[in-house]
Amino acid sequence: MTITHFLILSLLCRCSQCGRESEASSKVEDFYGLELNIKGLKDLDESLDDYLAIEELHGDNQYFCGSCKTRVDATRSIKLCTLPDVLNFQLKRYVFLPQVLGKT
Ligand SMILES: [Zn+2]
Repeated sequence: MTITHFLILSLLCRCSQCGRESEASSKVEDFYGLELNIKGLKDLDESLDDYLAIEELHGDNQYFCGSCKTRVDATRSIKLCTLPDVLNFQLKRYVFLPQVLGKT
């Protein structure tokens, strides 16, 4: 049995005009952990929903659709393509100021 150590995430964009969905980018996380926000959220389910929430792209964030050949309003969602056998959740309980933490 092979143990999967990788978590593969895809960013999917769906064009609001033609409905075409395409993969904007994908990334591989080899630490197999998801960083979840829990501030203002009551449990892990809500944190996951927040993490996987569909984001609206419009205005300056408009998405270039290859079919429409123009920038369009779109929605972007995160899809978990490959899940590792063990998945860690890192809960961001505290919000640090960037200058204190030393990174953004
Ligand atoms: Zn389109």
